[in-house]
Amino acid sequence: MSEVKPYADLALYIDGVFIGAEARDGNEVINPADGSVLGRLPHARTEDMDKAIASASRAFETWRWISPLERGKILRRVAELIRERAQDIARDLTLDQGKPLAEAYAEVFNAAEHAEWHAEECRRIYGRVIPPRDRNVRQTVIRQPVGVCAAFTPWNFPFNQALRKISAALGSGCTVILKPAHDAPSAVVALVRLFDEAGLPPGCLNLVWGPSNRISRYLIETPAVRKISFTGSVPIGKQLGALAGEHMKRVTMELGGHAPVLVFADADIDRTAAYLSVLKARNAGQVCMAPSRFFVHADVAREFTEKFIAANEKLVVGDGLDPKTTMGPLTNRRRVEAMEDLVSDAVAVGSILASGGVSHDGPGHFFPPTVLTDVPLSAKIMNEEPFGPVVPITTFQTTDEALTLANALPFGLASYVFTRSLEINHRATYGIEAGMVSVNHFGIALPETPLGGVKDSGVGSEGGTETFDAYTTVKFISELTA
Ligand code: NAD
Repeated sequence: MSEVKPYADLALYIDGVFIGAEARDGNEVINPADGSVLGRLPHARTEDMDKAIASASRAFETWRWISPLERGKILRRVAELIRERAQDIARDLTLDQGKPLAEAYAEVFNAAEHAEWHAEECRRIYGRVIPPRDRNVRQTVIRQPVGVCAAFTPWNFPFNQALRKISAALGSGCTVILKPAHDAPSAVVALVRLFDEAGLPPGCLNLVWGPSNRISRYLIETPAVRKISFTGSVPIGKQLGALAGEHMKRVTMELGGHAPVLVFADADIDRTAAYLSVLKARNAGQVCMAPSRFFVHADVAREFTEKFIAANEKLVVGDGLDPKTTMGPLTNRRRVEAMEDLVSDAVAVGSILASGGVSHDGPGHFFPPTVLTDVPLSAKIMNEEPFGPVVPITTFQTTDEALTLANALPFGLASYVFTRSLEINHRATYGIEAGMVSVNHFGIALPETPLGGVKDSGVGSEGGTETFDAYTTVKFISELTA
């Protein structure tokens, strides 16, 4: 019988050296499916932070001059290693993050594609030649790496989110100090081990863990750190953005959304209801792009709601390692409490709890797929991102009304439109205030497409040809040649 591998060895990674949990204070990592302790995560001391900053600064002076072709080779090698080790990475990701194993695999394989995309695309960080006014002058524009980057990544897609930031930074010639969320650390440690194995020089990538506030403040205030990239909630994004502004640091902010879903009367209701049920259940709704405010045309609202609830009833909630499970637990207790609060508030202001809504008794952070109807716009859930498996459904009558509802919040990340009408499609895709609109399907977050938000949902994009903009500076060179 083959031996079951133990859960990941968690570590810091500083100047090319791994520092294990036995050498530092830290926190316990919990399995959200049963509440058991999986391991201990070491926290960086101040001297570790200083070492990480010094090594990233030193490494930048070499790495920035390594050709994009060579930088790309490392990213390609990492992609190969990711695919080779996918089984162990995905298993540990399910253990500490909670998502079903099939979703964990999808996250891991998708990340390999991101590494490859960045490996190819970094060879095309082009400049340009501007026609001069004087024939003896040559005017060129070049793009150069910004320097040492501090990257803060979340717990919902820990592997993928870390990979995106690391590969954009390394691909453009920057070095990185990565501080991921402590809730689901195994996949990030595994990823950093793959970069080490792929031959990334020491200092180009450093991994630190510990209290978020202490570490982010320390890194943002350090002069050597030139760029901040954060994925997480709007309030923390604003806090880090304000601090970065004080020190005139560049930022990329991928923040929360509250994605409107507009289901028009002419949509294919059977298909739309079934599709949205599966999409919403992905990662138990803990996705910044998850469909989350459902506006359904009044003529089809009843039919849609019944079919959506019927589709939800086919979901199997359980431990992500069980092959039958299609929706795992929430990653932490905070999310279960947030779901309970949103549901009880909605009911208190007059919404109907049409299905789900009651937390699971016993160990694990489970919450069932839940549907609320007749939800007043004043309910908390119509204004705060649920980041969990709760869906509020309300109705609209006209396209204008649907667009007004969609655009009513300060968020603007993903949005969804379901219609067969070319006219409605055109009005909605152009009229919705969001960084991404997906019509009749989910087509977001591919390596070759930009992911980013407008309004409070963030600044800048990751992926697509835009991916290096945030990690490079523009330099204009004017030369008198004769
Ligand atoms: P939170 O607001 O405390 O933290 C959000 C994220 O920011 C976490 O990953 C956390 O580790 C990190 N963080 C917190 N304080 C930080 C600091 N001072 N410096 C650097 N990083 C810091 O909330 P939470 O309970 O961890 O997550 C729930 C909320 O976060 C959700 O409601 C959702 O809006 C948001 N979120 C968004 C994404 C996304 O992909 N945009 C991912 C995870 C969480």
